[in-house]
Amino acid sequence: MSSYAEFYRRSIEDRDGFWREQAALIDWQTPPQTICDYSKPPFVKWFAGGTTNLCHNAVDRHVATRGDQPALIAISTETDTEQVYTFRQLQAEVQRMAAALLSLGVGKGDRVLIYMPMIAEAAFAMLACARIGAIHSVVFGGFASGSLASRIEDAEPKVIVSADAGSRGGKAVAYKPLLDEAIRLSKHKPPAVLLADRGLVPMDLVAGRDHLWAALREQHLNAQVPCEWVDATHTSYTLYTSGTTGKPKGVQRDTGGYAVALAASMKHIFDGRAGETYFSTSDIGWVVGHSYIIYGPLIAGMATIMYEGLPTRPDGGIWWQLVEKYKVTVMFSAPTAVRVLKKQDPAFLSKYDLSSLRALFLAGEPLDEPTAQWISGSLGKPIIDNYWQTETGWPILTICNGVEKAPSKFGSPGKAVYGYNVKLLDDQTGEELTSANQKGVLAIEGPLPPGCLQTVWRDDARYVNTYWSSVPNKMVYSTFDWAIRDEDGYYFILGRTDDVINVAGHRLGTREIEEAIASHPNIAEVAVVGVADQLKGQVAMAFAVLKDASPLEDPQALLKLEGEVMKIVDGSLGAVARPARVRFVSLLPKTRSGKLLRRAVQAVCEGRDPGDLTTMEDPAALQQIRDLVKV
Ligand code: AMP
Repeated sequence: MSSYAEFYRRSIEDRDGFWREQAALIDWQTPPQTICDYSKPPFVKWFAGGTTNLCHNAVDRHVATRGDQPALIAISTETDTEQVYTFRQLQAEVQRMAAALLSLGVGKGDRVLIYMPMIAEAAFAMLACARIGAIHSVVFGGFASGSLASRIEDAEPKVIVSADAGSRGGKAVAYKPLLDEAIRLSKHKPPAVLLADRGLVPMDLVAGRDHLWAALREQHLNAQVPCEWVDATHTSYTLYTSGTTGKPKGVQRDTGGYAVALAASMKHIFDGRAGETYFSTSDIGWVVGHSYIIYGPLIAGMATIMYEGLPTRPDGGIWWQLVEKYKVTVMFSAPTAVRVLKKQDPAFLSKYDLSSLRALFLAGEPLDEPTAQWISGSLGKPIIDNYWQTETGWPILTICNGVEKAPSKFGSPGKAVYGYNVKLLDDQTGEELTSANQKGVLAIEGPLPPGCLQTVWRDDARYVNTYWSSVPNKMVYSTFDWAIRDEDGYYFILGRTDDVINVAGHRLGTREIEEAIASHPNIAEVAVVGVADQLKGQVAMAFAVLKDASPLEDPQALLKLEGEVMKIVDGSLGAVARPARVRFVSLLPKTRSGKLLRRAVQAVCEGRDPGDLTTMEDPAALQQIRDLVKV
């Protein structure tokens, strides 16, 4: 048996022994009493009885041994700034932020919503919450007021931490008006808002509610705020993600299990070592940003780069320039970003000294073979695809090079990661598919390993009903992805089983986009599908039925309507969710029982055979779409 196969086997068969060893990778105030309590499936408690703190593990414990080494490197090519914080300086900033939050009434278990661009203050805020046992809920800065409002309502934060603006392509993007609008829309009104003023866009402050970070920081310059020791099972954060139904789900994460899972992944998967530099190009609004911009690298004692800006500005060599300058050893990005870089001058890749880099990890969407081949050939370093989800917090499938160097296969993220009892199941019968190359639902048998979601925030029933009840006859966790496994145990992901689409690595629920579009006064009905796209992997395409159909004859009126609909999506969800096109039809393809035939619409848009259409009410509906996408 290979050393990885043995490592994996032990993680499943001697679960407690395996994770007891991994638990030693972090600091505990009180050691765990039990390793895994799975007495109430599918709910699992990892490391119960133990007390620890994420901020202590990410920051404080490194101050004694590497206090003067870089911890956070905040770079913005938008504002042309570079700030390096050592572990000691980071500890001081986090204490100031923690003191500011405490002064605004935040206590253990209270929620703090963070709506921030990629600036150092966002990291301070996350770590400060962890420090005092508050629960952070980071909302991606690219989301607009509608998305933000629903998250404020669900999380009910005591404080929102935000900023005057983000910046993209050199243009300031105001956050404060979106935030004010979101608070106006939300039933829950946060008592306080803490704002970093970057001087990009003037802000109107609401007296008594809005506070400036610079002023509070000044008041707490010498703050000493000790880490609050919390139970391993204490909620560290919630992070909202899209699913089949319109309302986003608050993925709820614990503290001890998460810290152990990240520490172990830094060792066994990323092979990142203390004192080195990690560069993840993601955003703190996504799970990769939580696990591998903030917590994972810092827990491992690595410096982490937080980058605000485009991969192509000032030119397509900027990321490689940073790799050279900061001697990055581990880099993490998404296939979409690589596809963008592929369009740039290849000379950028040979211009810089990339000898420090050991591997480039890619995740978030399928890594197509041409992209993988290109980057692998150009970089001359291992390219490691890894497959996971917001829910799991760390990779489910990959190549664990820290355990055993193994070859990868193009198009496959690799094998099941230790701790995950991965199964392929028949979606109709729930039966396990054990032969090679059979297509099934990728599922995980309980208990989920440490680091995965505990439940859906304030909705245990939704957690069980969504994730653990979708495969017939079996209580297993469904990833909602189709996959096959080859004879060597390598998995290949074949797409989602639900109505979730993946645009440039951003996960979006088609229902959410449909709801936003349907709020236009002249839209009666709409279907949104994900359509394959060369650059972004997928784009959203909308087909709408009008209440007043008269514009259907007038191309100018339709263009105007399309613009209006896109504006609504931008304003409600944000430009990330904007459909590539909104087309207008007189009816949508449905079954006789009234179910929208999204798969058929998607197939037609991609020029594929829509399959069995015998249940379709009126074939003319699909024909209209076929005619529209042909032109
Ligand atoms: P998110 O929760 O936003 O990270 O999205 C998770 C979903 O993205 C998964 O369920 C997959 O559909 C897709 N995904 C993530 N990583 C990969 C990968 N390496 N290969 C293929 N699909 C992926």
